Amino acid sequence: MKGLKIISGPCSAESEKQVLETALAIKDSGIAYFRAGLWKPRTRPGCFEGVGFAGIPWMQKAGKASGLKICTEVARREHVEACLEAGFDMLWIGARTTVNPFQVQELAESLKGSDVAVYVKNPMSRDLELWAGAVERLRSQGIENIGLIHRGFPDFSGGAYRNAPEWQAAVKMRMMFPELPLICDPSHIAGNVKYIPRISQEAMDLGLDGLMVECHISPGSALSDKEQQLTPAQLDGLLKSLNVRNNDSEDDSYRRQIAGLRSVIDNCDIEIIEALAKRMEASREIGRIKKEHNISILQITRWDEVMDKAVNAGAAKGLSKEFISEILNDIHKESVSLQNE
Ligand code: PEP
Ligand code: MN
Repeated sequence: MKGLKIISGPCSAESEKQVLETALAIKDSGIAYFRAGLWKPRTRPGCFEGVGFAGIPWMQKAGKASGLKICTEVARREHVEACLEAGFDMLWIGARTTVNPFQVQELAESLKGSDVAVYVKNPMSRDLELWAGAVERLRSQGIENIGLIHRGFPDFSGGAYRNAPEWQAAVKMRMMFPELPLICDPSHIAGNVKYIPRISQEAMDLGLDGLMVECHISPGSALSDKEQQLTPAQLDGLLKSLNVRNNDSEDDSYRRQIAGLRSVIDNCDIEIIEALAKRMEASREIGRIKKEHNISILQITRWDEVMDKAVNAGAAKGLSKEFISEILNDIHKESVSLQNE
């Protein structure tokens, strides 16, 4: 699929027939790995928690019959050992496991010495350090074949999606680990098939390297994540419809336009820094004068005025209130600390 890494298959392995039929139905859609969860980390007990070790031979069979590489989620040492023994090509660490350094460490140690690919989903909590920490724990055990999966973060603000995508977080991970493939899981972000195409395309527009998408031979009867699983036909349609952007272009007019705009940005950055330096100098001077007159540093009414003025000026130029107040808050923090010197 145009150089993309596509991982697809059901949320859970449910029966030998379901696993095999799904793998055969999607094998020609251009996917790299066939997925199915054997051990399902359900938030509340009492739901279907996966078929466990019994599903391993089904996955092996599905891999052989379809020619696809196979993968599943691991959360415990015993899962890793059984999957390595069974010849799984890739294992992934789920969002509920990435949050736990003890568990990640246990997995990393049990993976030691193997060259299996390991993908790490972002943790349930919005903490990039945990995500990065998992990569470091794997690397410290000599695991090099690592990938990242952005599956969004729980969203309690009542948005349409099951998990909110945090593209900014994905971009930060890309900057921290530019050598690692970074893919998106639109199924767990969306929570519903109707949003999957839109989220997948957003991931492509950002230059992510692929997708992990859930697909079930008969989603209506799925034992987990029923609403977010595509049919094989929908998966095929989705993959055909994606517009994958290039990383770069040799086209002269493209290069000229980008170079021109980049130099505008570089100049703006210098101007912003010069203005900040001038502003901080004035703050320092204010701090000196306040000290001389024994006046307290923090004056809330003045700060409200500064913020209001800036937010209004920003709005007049089409800049959002959140953006301006975030910048102003950072500037203010620095000013206060200079006045304290
Ligand atoms: C899954 O991929 O089925 C899964 C449980 O995902 P996550 O860890 O992202 O919730
Ligand atoms: Mn799922």
